[in-house]
Amino acid sequence: MHLIDLYQKQDFVFSIEIFPPKTEKGMEKLKTTLEKFKYCTPDYFSVTYGAGGTSRTNTHEMAAHILHELDVPTMAHLTCTAHTEKEIDDVLTKLRNSKITNVMALRGDPTAGKDHFVQPKGGYHYASELIAAVRKHSDFGIGAAGYPEGHVENPDKDDDRKRLHEKIAAGAEFIVTQFFLDNTHFLHWRDQLHKEGVSVPLVAGILPPANWNAISRLSDMCGVSIPEKLSQALIKHESDPEVSKIIGFEHVEKQIEELLQEGVEGLHLYALNSLETVDRLGPKLKEASGT
Ligand code: FAD
Repeated sequence: MHLIDLYQKQDFVFSIEIFPPKTEKGMEKLKTTLEKFKYCTPDYFSVTYGAGGTSRTNTHEMAAHILHELDVPTMAHLTCTAHTEKEIDDVLTKLRNSKITNVMALRGDPTAGKDHFVQPKGGYHYASELIAAVRKHSDFGIGAAGYPEGHVENPDKDDDRKRLHEKIAAGAEFIVTQFFLDNTHFLHWRDQLHKEGVSVPLVAGILPPANWNAISRLSDMCGVSIPEKLSQALIKHESDPEVSKIIGFEHVEKQIEELLQEGVEGLHLYALNSLETVDRLGPKLKEASGT
């Protein structure tokens, strides 16, 4: 099954992104946590791809577990980082052999210590090239990343949208966005893409800020702006983790409400493997998906 079928069939699709732990113990713990997610099972899970090492094979293992043991559709992420074309081909063959039929095709972030992405020798430079390779490999459903505030490495937002058009032309069937904390960025970006003729689903990424320290670091890294009112509240309660968490949840609950009113095709929850996040935000999203 391709995830685009869900977006075409349902008015609204609820998805959860998780990351695979590096250790066996961590993997077992996450599998147990996922069992508890089942009270608000998303329409699909997506599993991120690390920069190297065991977490990469764990992406495959976790995606297969979700698909075959929990019986929930799954998308495995894949990046260009530190891979040759042949290695990418091998990963795709393994995914296909495990009946994982959806891939989120990404470039990946610069490796640790580097301030820019270095094209791997014999590998791909941009996500659009990887998307074309996935499309050529076999019949995968393909998602790609979008940036309502522009990608952090590209100061020219018009050019960044042009790059998104290239990813769609290469075969991306739907776009999942970077998280944002001010809906106007997403709504404006969506309007512009629609005006430019984009008709694939544009899925909003939602991440509840846990506290000031974490969200300010992440926002800097990802080029995401923090609304003044939210930053003031988080700074004021910097030393109180519980209050900070509530501020973050209340902020994204308002975002979700407005995005649903704006007829967003899907919401992608960056759950960071947290049961608390899914317990708090999942039921509303599940209700909206009507499944
Ligand atoms: P691209 O689309 O290739 O864009 C990268 C940069 O190059 C942009 O600045 C773009 O404007 C520019 N560009 C693109 N094409 C061209 C061109 N032809 N010429 C010149 N410039 C060009 N990272 C991981 O490591 N693992 C994950 O699992 C993961 N999951 C993610 C999921 C989502 C929903 C999102 C939004 C991001 C995720 N990321 C993940 C992070 C992602 O890898 C980074 O944001 C990365 O820096 C860019 O990836 P991309 O696929 O958007 O790259």
